[in-house]
Amino acid sequence: MKGGGSLKVYEAIALGAKELESVCPNPRLESELLLSHSLRIDRVKLAIKRDEVLKEEELERFLKYIEKRKSRIPYQYIVKKQHFMGFEFYVDERVLIPRPETEILVEEALKRMKSGDLILDIGTGSGAIAISIAKLFPDCKVYAVDVSEEALEVAKYNAEKLGVAEKIIFIKSDIFSNIPQDVKFDLIVSNPPYIKKAELENLQEEVKKEPILALDGGEDGLFFYKRIIPDCKFYLKKGGRGLFEIGYGQREEVEKIFLENGFDEIEVIKDLAHIDRVIIG
Ligand code: GLN
Repeated sequence: MKGGGSLKVYEAIALGAKELESVCPNPRLESELLLSHSLRIDRVKLAIKRDEVLKEEELERFLKYIEKRKSRIPYQYIVKKQHFMGFEFYVDERVLIPRPETEILVEEALKRMKSGDLILDIGTGSGAIAISIAKLFPDCKVYAVDVSEEALEVAKYNAEKLGVAEKIIFIKSDIFSNIPQDVKFDLIVSNPPYIKKAELENLQEEVKKEPILALDGGEDGLFFYKRIIPDCKFYLKKGGRGLFEIGYGQREEVEKIFLENGFDEIEVIKDLAHIDRVIIG
């Protein structure tokens, strides 16, 4: 892409937007966001700088970000952040980018918590769920586990950055494998990988840049529900709950797994698109 010697802020936005036209549905917005990231300022400040000429290193950074975005790297991996539950999480290629739908899971978990509760988050990734719960519920302790050492590094970094490291215990664990047998939880939450193997290749290019480990739910997409739910009984207190995010069309099957494993009072919460999104047993 040609940057052309010097560019003013408004010209850079237009150039970026043009370059991103074929890549994303909101090229102007993303161009503005990438430019404000290059200038290390808030997007709202772009307006007052409209006619300022970009410094050489600012233009260089901006063009580099635009190139990355053109190669379908998600915007969040370029700026290394994503907002979730009002908090700013650091993200990179080691973790799934937290999705807005997952905020429903956090809200439903918070509604059911009481003082002193012990929570387990399975497959914590960036730590989005565990850290949001620790931030928003004053008196609780959270265990956050992930099979990926790399993901745990990101989650620990976020816990430090957001000031809740002392409320969370991080363990490298394949589901329950390394959780001490004598620890019992009030609530087990998870947003497990739930995409069917056959659908993985049809995903948007951006999603393909996310860790496959965080997406692949096996042949039927239910692999992790089948592994997690039956063992919950060994780790839940009496009357404890399991609360999981599910994918489109998975409600009936996951409900069946719950019922077959001694859970009752199954509740389902829909997302804004009216898709069954969170299931609670
Ligand atoms: N718990 C993390 C999230 O919801 C990661 C989930 C995953 O990697 N499947 O964002």
